Amino acid sequence: MAILTILEFPDPRLRRKAVPVEVVDEKIRTLIDDLLETMYDAPGIGLAATQVDVHQRVLVADISDDKSTPLVLINPEILSRDGVEITEEGCLSVPGVYEKVERAEHITFRALDRDGKGIEMEARGLLAVCVQHECDHLDGKLFVDYLSELKRQRIRKRVQKAHRQESNQPHRAPAI
Ligand code: ZN
Repeated sequence: MAILTILEFPDPRLRRKAVPVEVVDEKIRTLIDDLLETMYDAPGIGLAATQVDVHQRVLVADISDDKSTPLVLINPEILSRDGVEITEEGCLSVPGVYEKVERAEHITFRALDRDGKGIEMEARGLLAVCVQHECDHLDGKLFVDYLSELKRQRIRKRVQKAHRQESNQPHRAPAI
């Protein structure tokens, strides 16, 4: 296993649309293990392959407090969305930034698991938000895209400035 480098906004590689995984093989399972290790190390509650510059449709998430409930989704597809949930979101690719985003409160989705078996699930609340946020990453979309252009420009400057100073602001909310 390895801890991978997480790309940061406004890196253009975060805008690439990931392609579906054709075969769930050992290479994909190694990627999954690396994604989990990188997410737990960060720490975050979700990570998409796009964020580590691998443009295949794979994401991991774990919203538990004790890192006990990893969720692995390959080729995830959201089937239905309902309700409204406004959550203060953060993102490992936009360090130190937390903004309110409106998403569906309840979703159903299907995917392949780490053995390549088809699964269909539903999620509510934070897990639903997390899966929607990560699926966006696979399409090259970031949570800052839901904000105004002015806000996004401010965030871009802030992240770049933070980079120059190499300072890390403390996380106030879980980063996805
Ligand atoms: Zn994110």
